[in-house]
Amino acid sequence: MPEVITTSQQAIQLEDRYGAHNYHPIPVVIARGEGVFVWDVEGNRYYDFLSSYSAVNQGHCHPRIVDSLIEQSQKLSLTSRAFYNDVLGAYEQYITEYFGFDKVLPMNTGAEAVETAIKICRKWGYEIKGIPDERAKIIVCHHNFHGRTTTIISFSNDPMAHDHFGPYTPGFINIPYDDLESLENALSDENVAGFLVEPVQGEAGVITASEDYIRNAYDLCRKNNVLFIADEIQTGLARTGSLLAMCGNCTCRGHCERQDSYRKPDILILGKALSGGIYPVSAVLSDNAVMDVMKPGVHGSTYGGNPLGSKVAITALEVIRDEKLAQNARYLGKLFRQRMEDLKNKTSLIREVRGKGLLNAIEINDSPESDTAWNLCLRLKENGLLAKPTHGNIIRFAPPLVMTEEQLHECCDIIESAITRFETART
Ligand SMILES: *Cc1c(COP(=O)(O)O)cnc(C)c1O
Repeated sequence: MPEVITTSQQAIQLEDRYGAHNYHPIPVVIARGEGVFVWDVEGNRYYDFLSSYSAVNQGHCHPRIVDSLIEQSQKLSLTSRAFYNDVLGAYEQYITEYFGFDKVLPMNTGAEAVETAIKICRKWGYEIKGIPDERAKIIVCHHNFHGRTTTIISFSNDPMAHDHFGPYTPGFINIPYDDLESLENALSDENVAGFLVEPVQGEAGVITASEDYIRNAYDLCRKNNVLFIADEIQTGLARTGSLLAMCGNCTCRGHCERQDSYRKPDILILGKALSGGIYPVSAVLSDNAVMDVMKPGVHGSTYGGNPLGSKVAITALEVIRDEKLAQNARYLGKLFRQRMEDLKNKTSLIREVRGKGLLNAIEINDSPESDTAWNLCLRLKENGLLAKPTHGNIIRFAPPLVMTEEQLHECCDIIESAITRFETART
């Protein structure tokens, strides 16, 4: 019989003893979640400012998504793709129309979807572009995060993610982010098949590119017959104040008629909030000219495209549209950054405030090796708000997008009082 958990301490001890130590969590044990809130084992309530790395954009345990899960799981959960099922086709039609692509290839986790995009891109390089066999290259950016598989970590600059996992997969060119000149140079190699990029680098610490970087990068790729692959696993699905971060300042459904800033990526990768945090669902979208390189038998996944995941994803996408989450994220994001800029003027602890929509970060005025950001997050936790440092001195703030304006102000008050008191205690 599994042990019954009655205290946070007990749960932490069990994880510590029986689980691999591949994470270093903030010491809080969450037992329940609803909307923007989570509760620990002792019943304390917190605002969740991580949103499971932006997987719960729709809020914890969204009732509509939970209902879909329950309903479909009682009917049919898994068939494998050896047979057709009566949900997948409807999901494929819904998601492709939603984002304006011809076809979708369904997977489960984000890393798998990135792997799938890499495979599609290479195959397109050989069979359509005519790159000699085994020579295809994909351009990626410094400080990228695209997942944890052996191929993906092969082109990571983060020693923690990369070191001692070799031998590494070749075929990647690593260039600085937000640097068009480097991209142009790299594109002069005619064996380049694709450019894989995050419109905002989430895991790197919410690194935003300059205003027209993505658009110009896309145009350079087009000019050189190279596929533009957007990893919107974290930035997409309303998080940055538009349906996709690729949409810039627009709330269109991906393909924008009103302004010329949107470039439709050749390959779009989605995950995380595609299921609202209920079940792992990821997707790779592209048009026929690219996706048709995938033929029966060349790629697959036992769970990919299962009826349960498909149903959950349909509802998760409906919720984003029906509850106008992109508009809310954009509006609240501006308020949040304004409040944090005001706070920055009152404290020496904040070096920079940055972000887009409700994907924001503050950089703490201390070295990445210091424990200042970690201690500040512990203080935030005591005051009822959960956030986690990344790269030592950066704190990401990414609440569920169902937050109200009043709640956001309450959260900013919590952050403000924690930072001010933390500073007073230090001096
Ligand atoms: C989280 C993330 C991934 C990996 O997704 P998993 O589901 O953890 O495999 C890939 N790319 C980006 C940009 C991410 O934020």
